Amino acid sequence: MKTLNLCILVSLAIGTYCSPILQPADTQDEDMAEMYLKRFYNLTEQSGPTFRHNVGQMSETLSEMQKFFGLNVTGTLDSDTLQVMQKPRCGVSDVSQYSTFPGKPRWPTNKLTYRIENYTPDLSMSEVDTAIVKALQVWARVTPLRFTRIYSGTADIRISFVRQAHGDNNPFDGPGNILAHAYSPSQGIGGDAHFDEDETFTVRSSNGISLFLVAAHEFGHSLGLSHSNVNGALMYPTYSYRNSNSFSLSWDDVRGIQSLYGSNPDVTPGDPERPMTPDACDPNLVLDAVTTLRGGKMFFKGRFVWRSYRQSSKPVQSLIKNLWPEVPDNIDAAYESRKTGWVYIFKDRQVWALSGYNLVRGYPRSLSSMGLPRTVKKISAALYEEHSGKTLFFAGKYYYSYDTVRQRMDKGYPKLVEEGFPGMMGQVTAAFQERGLFFLFNGQSAFAFSSRRTLYRVLKNSYFLRC
Ligand SMILES: [Zn+2]
Ligand SMILES: [Zn+2]
Repeated sequence: MKTLNLCILVSLAIGTYCSPILQPADTQDEDMAEMYLKRFYNLTEQSGPTFRHNVGQMSETLSEMQKFFGLNVTGTLDSDTLQVMQKPRCGVSDVSQYSTFPGKPRWPTNKLTYRIENYTPDLSMSEVDTAIVKALQVWARVTPLRFTRIYSGTADIRISFVRQAHGDNNPFDGPGNILAHAYSPSQGIGGDAHFDEDETFTVRSSNGISLFLVAAHEFGHSLGLSHSNVNGALMYPTYSYRNSNSFSLSWDDVRGIQSLYGSNPDVTPGDPERPMTPDACDPNLVLDAVTTLRGGKMFFKGRFVWRSYRQSSKPVQSLIKNLWPEVPDNIDAAYESRKTGWVYIFKDRQVWALSGYNLVRGYPRSLSSMGLPRTVKKISAALYEEHSGKTLFFAGKYYYSYDTVRQRMDKGYPKLVEEGFPGMMGQVTAAFQERGLFFLFNGQSAFAFSSRRTLYRVLKNSYFLRC
């Protein structure tokens, strides 16, 4: 399932980079798409012309769906769109009135009760209890909301495992596709979360569906959040696995829930409880690495990457793991080679080479395979010099120049960074070269050097991340 869905996320995040070839949709696909749009986009029965004509309400609704997911808005059923429709997802509609912000349904109190009405045989009772508590804590940590478990009576949030038709006019669909759904705050069924018993829920592995992740997402609905179209946000409608131990909300989720309930009064800013997900607009953001990619740029931080395109105004955020499952989080350096067209990613003593979204055969390799001496245990930045075909590696106060044509390190290196780039202050933490200009980052600043390596400008990160 993970492999199947990879390209969907990649194509969402990086546009035409890995778009599969468009193929004509067959009738079965069209029927499936029609059902999907009816279910999640309020497409009505009397929709008039169908896909076969590519016009009318169907096409309009399809465009709406494509826009939500950041796909090419074609209004036709292309293969990218079909793949997104086939991904396992939440059963709540993407355009439902109740969960959009203008209505703003919320609980009138910060003290809420929950009750686990039954259990799944997939897990032990204590595993279910723990996953539910952890999932509620995700939201309690960033809001004044507090949850109390009750064992009898009517709770605000009633949790149950059910299959197929289960009395709320929202039947589940067997294994796969819809995993769960939940109702926005109100009396009665409001706040309740239903989990599709036909899924196989897990707590530890990436095999099966993580109960914690699905529950945390559903409780977002129980508290009044609708779907987000920010890839990597918990409230994104499709499911993608991530380790629950290192899980944190994205800023988009935090902003959403705090718009309803405010922040957690028990946490002071800067507290370790603060979500670890980076904010592209945080003035204190220190990037892990930056690289060019096919005319755009990629900015790495933690488990996230933002990609900017030449033409688009705002960088698109996604999880590194969704682009390249093999690449670790918290990388040291990255660069794009115009010679091979590959992106090289560095962490500690290892190097990954990526062609499109595929790991190049034979990688990861060691740092020394790039010509660096064995004494170098880690680099902090790398860049590719377009005109000379050389790669510069930055480590501590020094940098190395690697001749990619002759495949050897240039004589006279390492050199002091301040010697090669006069005016550069502090260690180089990220770097790239574009149109002959060098950009060397230190902390929140980027030092811009001309092709003759004269410092001419010091920029802020926000200049690139367009904040
Ligand atoms: Zn949902
Ligand atoms: Zn239900």
